[in-house]
Amino acid sequence: MHSGKTLRLRCIFCLTLTSVKLERKKGEGRCDHCSKPVLLDRPIKIVQDDFNETVVNSEIPVLVDFYADWCGPCKMVNPIIDDIAGRKEGELVVIKIDADTAHELMEDMKVTSVPTLLLFKGGEEISRSVGLEPEKIKEMVEHAIT
Ligand SMILES: [Zn+2]
Repeated sequence: MHSGKTLRLRCIFCLTLTSVKLERKKGEGRCDHCSKPVLLDRPIKIVQDDFNETVVNSEIPVLVDFYADWCGPCKMVNPIIDDIAGRKEGELVVIKIDADTAHELMEDMKVTSVPTLLLFKGGEEISRSVGLEPEKIKEMVEHAIT
């Protein structure tokens, strides 16, 4: 699935919103501003202000994990989404949002607990998992990219 698609992400080095090309070899994503690497084979943390640009406007499906550092089940979600991000690089991107810093966004999205995972495709939420639901998360991902 390589058709010149890009993903808008805030570079962790220069903090510019950059367009990362998805059409490339794995592990070769670069910021178009500072040329530092942008790694898409693992979950990427964003802030709520970048949600529209990165998630809603994405050209590929996005799995969004609302988590909190104090939440035990959230930590159990981590290996599941790490694995998905690695296996689906270029087809789907995994985004993490710290729930403690995203109250407005969560209110908009009607997210009331963590962990909650939303699957966005074409700017719309197409499925959601609440709590620790490993099988459901995998199903959501497979459904989104087929
Ligand atoms: Zn940069």
